[in-house]
Amino acid sequence: METVLQLTDVSKAYGAVKALKQVSLTIPKGSVFGILGPNGSGKTTMMSIVLDVLGADTGTYSWFNQSPSSADRKRIGSLLETPNFYHYLSAVDNLKITSAISGRGNDQAIDEVLEIVKLTERKKSKFSAYSLGMKQRLAIAAALLGNPEVLLLDEPTNGLDPVGILEIRELIKRLASKGITIIIASHLLDEVEKICTHVAILKRGNLLTSGPVDEVLSNEDIVEVSAENMDALKSCVGQIPDVLSIKEDNQRLQVHFKAGTAKMEAVNQHCFNHGITLNLLLNKKKSLESKFFELTND
Ligand code: ADP
Ligand code: MG
Repeated sequence: METVLQLTDVSKAYGAVKALKQVSLTIPKGSVFGILGPNGSGKTTMMSIVLDVLGADTGTYSWFNQSPSSADRKRIGSLLETPNFYHYLSAVDNLKITSAISGRGNDQAIDEVLEIVKLTERKKSKFSAYSLGMKQRLAIAAALLGNPEVLLLDEPTNGLDPVGILEIRELIKRLASKGITIIIASHLLDEVEKICTHVAILKRGNLLTSGPVDEVLSNEDIVEVSAENMDALKSCVGQIPDVLSIKEDNQRLQVHFKAGTAKMEAVNQHCFNHGITLNLLLNKKKSLESKFFELTND
């Protein structure tokens, strides 16, 4: 798989605050990659570094498998904070200014990006008359000028109402379906789960884990069992339908089921029928929330 962005041992401190600690990360082309972490975990710092807004103390990063250059920068669109649009100007006039300053896009491109973010009908309205969600979509339109291959969005749904959030999520999905790689910082597990293909979890500057969402945030039921004869128990529970995997841990078996399919009575009955008396039967069901909580709490 082609790599869009690679970080290697990136660290950054603000005085005594260690915002990033030796973070290494690979972002594959075509992914919707969520940087997930509570407030203060280092997400904005990471984005600022790879956008060259901020220097790293140590470590390196590379875009498109090359050392950073201005040519690469043209392939990247970003929304780190809401840009300063002119309140008394229309959406289209604001984008003309953005385009002139950045040297990205032209009148035709402006119409195209307004269409993508579904603001064509309102392109002549003054910015001051826009809802918060429309303002955010205009900001994304600005980031799309110049046809970037990668789009970085820092907490793009912050402060929006449910409709605004939905519109941004739909927009991100549309952009992803066009093949744009999207890197999105968020403190909302739900958001990452809904729109991302991959996720990296940050906690106080440490990267805890990263990978495909369904692997990192795997949603399985886990039943812990133990018996006198562990070998017999293992082969016995292995015959239960719906068992995905069995892990042995500290004289216990962790039996993984697809979410919602573990039945305690059925496990007990099955073992009993095979002449095995359990001396431990525990439901260790994990929801995404508890997994995230577990990962990000002390
Ligand atoms: P996030 O985006 O995940 O909320 P940040 O990258 O903004 O996290 O911040 C990471 C840590 O660095 C936090 O503890 C924050 O208080 C601190 N920090 C961020 N920017 C600065 C700054 N300019 N000066 C001092 N500390 C900062
Ligand atoms: Mg932030």
